[in-house]
Amino acid sequence: MPIKFEILAEDKVTRARAGLLHTPHGVIETPIFMPVGTCGTVKGMRQEELEALGVQILLGNTYHLYLRPGHELIRDAGGLHRFMSWPRPILTDSGGFQVMSLKSLGKVTEDGVWFKSHLDGSSHFLSPERAVEIQLALGSDIMMCLDECVEYPATYEALARSIALTTRWAKRAKDAVARDSGQGKTEKGQGAGDSGFETRDTRQETRDAGQGVRATRLGNGELESSGLASNFEFRIPGSGPLTPNPESLTPNPESLTPSSESRVPSPASPALSPQSLAPALFGIVQGGTDKDLRRQSAEALLNLDFEGYAVGGLAVGEPKSEMYDTVEFTAGLLPRDRPRYLMGVGTPDDLLAGVARGIDMFDCVMPTRNARNACAFTSEGKVIIKNARYARDEGPLDPACSCSVCRRYSRRYLRHLFVTGEMLGPMLATHHNIHFYLDTMRRMRQSLLFGEFADFHNRMRRKF
Ligand SMILES: [Zn+2]
Repeated sequence: MPIKFEILAEDKVTRARAGLLHTPHGVIETPIFMPVGTCGTVKGMRQEELEALGVQILLGNTYHLYLRPGHELIRDAGGLHRFMSWPRPILTDSGGFQVMSLKSLGKVTEDGVWFKSHLDGSSHFLSPERAVEIQLALGSDIMMCLDECVEYPATYEALARSIALTTRWAKRAKDAVARDSGQGKTEKGQGAGDSGFETRDTRQETRDAGQGVRATRLGNGELESSGLASNFEFRIPGSGPLTPNPESLTPNPESLTPSSESRVPSPASPALSPQSLAPALFGIVQGGTDKDLRRQSAEALLNLDFEGYAVGGLAVGEPKSEMYDTVEFTAGLLPRDRPRYLMGVGTPDDLLAGVARGIDMFDCVMPTRNARNACAFTSEGKVIIKNARYARDEGPLDPACSCSVCRRYSRRYLRHLFVTGEMLGPMLATHHNIHFYLDTMRRMRQSLLFGEFADFHNRMRRKF
């Protein structure tokens, strides 16, 4: 059975919607932000920390994992979930974007892409079938078709050629999944329910009552303010029942539902047990900022009937207004009942703009990469924590944030960590930034469920 997408609420003014996406490793609440775990790790963050922050799905990079440690090694370890000890859903990209953006590109042919490893210069070939094979070996919940990513700006002719190739590749990827996924699912250690985890849901009510409790909360594990946070304990790898508990991904319903009469439907119904779900394959709509080409690309992919659709090829240098226009136009071409994923975007404002235009899923390196470069996203805008003005600032990174970093550490201390190059600096900033992104998404979702998204949208715009 393929993944299932349920829409729970739709905004009356904008195109925003809130839903549930059922995947082999659990249910994801949309709209959702997916932190990027390039090499099987979100840099500087432990997996238990990500869980406590309420991360529901991670993005893994096929290109990097293929080169190191190699998808066969990961398959033999029981799949990426088990290898990295992450029981929740994983989306993997196809590897195409890295191949084409790391300047390692050799040659694009009808068959696929030749590229050189950025590590040792060795030559490799990535085809649509190979990208599926690697993603199946990783045990991904959501796989992406190999697409051609052309540089910005590109001519109409180059974009038109590219979307035609991307469509032919998408068909081949879909055929490959139909052919190979049975094999992928029956490989030892692969597929849902065999991730190497015993997930004991030790869900705690982690909401901070907002009474300014800081250090006293922290000796007892991670206590975040979100109603989504839950602590897992799992045994890895080894024996025992290895089924992720689908409920473990479900938030505390009280935090998200407008009233007890309209609770979020239980994702635990037998028909939707994660074990019965197969990995999904998403098609990627390309076409730059040209509406005619976007339409052609979307129509061709819709004919192939994917389980979800991504909007690719944006945030590559085009003006923001053009990006938003393209997102709005493209999302409007996609079927209502399938999840829509805007790839590689963006700032908190971009997430808000994307949700308002009908996008359900986002990924971006920005919160984590910026954190490592001493840039924090806060309710007051960006904070460059290395600045001398924070040398004696005893306030938290973000006075409005309830994350454990803001509850405990001062700006002056964070600045000191970055100035001295201590590894704790990037770790703490990453923790805060991921919390900030997830919290932004949660508040959007909550406003949707309460029918207040348009107000929220107007209040939140233009901070970044
Ligand atoms: Zn914080």
